[in-house]
Amino acid sequence: MYRDHTKVVQIGDKKIGGGNPILIQSMTNTKTEDVKATVAQIHALEEAGCEIIRCTVPTKEAAEALGEIKKQIHIPLVADIHFDYRMAVAAMENGADKIRINPGNIGGPEKIKAVVDTAKERNIPIRVGVNSGSLEKELVEKYHGVTAEGLVESALDKVKIIEDFDYDNLVISIKSSDVLMCVKAHELLAEKTAYPLHVGITEAGTLYSGNIKSAVGLGIILYQGIGDTIRVSLTGDPVEEIKSAKRILKTLNLRKGGIEVVSCPTCGRTQIDLIGLANQVETMVQKFPLDIKVAVMGCVVNGPGEAKEADIGIAGGKGVGLLIKKGEIIRKVPEAELLDVLRLELENWEK
Ligand code: SF4
Repeated sequence: MYRDHTKVVQIGDKKIGGGNPILIQSMTNTKTEDVKATVAQIHALEEAGCEIIRCTVPTKEAAEALGEIKKQIHIPLVADIHFDYRMAVAAMENGADKIRINPGNIGGPEKIKAVVDTAKERNIPIRVGVNSGSLEKELVEKYHGVTAEGLVESALDKVKIIEDFDYDNLVISIKSSDVLMCVKAHELLAEKTAYPLHVGITEAGTLYSGNIKSAVGLGIILYQGIGDTIRVSLTGDPVEEIKSAKRILKTLNLRKGGIEVVSCPTCGRTQIDLIGLANQVETMVQKFPLDIKVAVMGCVVNGPGEAKEADIGIAGGKGVGLLIKKGEIIRKVPEAELLDVLRLELENWEK
């Protein structure tokens, strides 16, 4: 089922599915019991553009902390539960806007029923999450290993358990660190369900490899019209996850807004510290709510031509650079002033 036709699910004040914008999620890595640290991290994530946040709830204290955390943040709060169904119930009683469980690891039917009953009373959505690392033995044997088919069957089995308790306020996620397996699982799952899908490549790795794996995996999945919320999982500061997720959505034209910086790869003609300048520009432009393209080029010979498709650009020279608009040279600028001149232009940009 492609995202325009998935079921609409309400998470706090946000709607996902049914063609609503794809929302960006992340997960805190603070101790949830530490309200101050968790709220501080969520605020940083909100500022970066995070739209739904998930916190782990391994203890009763963590479940209780959710209530206080929720009061201090501005985005829906999801509780991540493993093993103990009582944490799921407590999280919902303390205001979680959604819970993420794997019904396979929280106990027998009566425990799942207790969770579903609480969710039903409060109309709280449940995300049924399946990970390649915890696929049931029977499915591993049936499909001769961990496979996309096995993951899909596992997810749909779990969904069925909850549907049998007469509840369908659900979201599904299937995660694997194997990018192609993850892609295939989403293709198969999208054909079989109308529930919204939360998409991510799990345990993707550090900033470098995690970004590449996530961009490739999410790129293929999202481009096929599959996926209603996303998370880029990185071993690092979760704020980096948000930046990457935004960039992936923007690259696929699934999100508008924000300045895109294009910069040349440098070559033998480069006469300034272009790598340093491009990085400074990328940081500087983040605060401008403009939907334009900014070029940062390494030389005054080819720079203006190569920057033609950008709305505005700078090109570095030997001591003197250029300010360029739509490929036209506007004026010469002392090299040391290039960044400030560009900033001024952006501050006065007519929207
Ligand atoms: S813009 Fe100039 S410095 Fe950059 S790659 Fe092209 S020719 Fe080389």
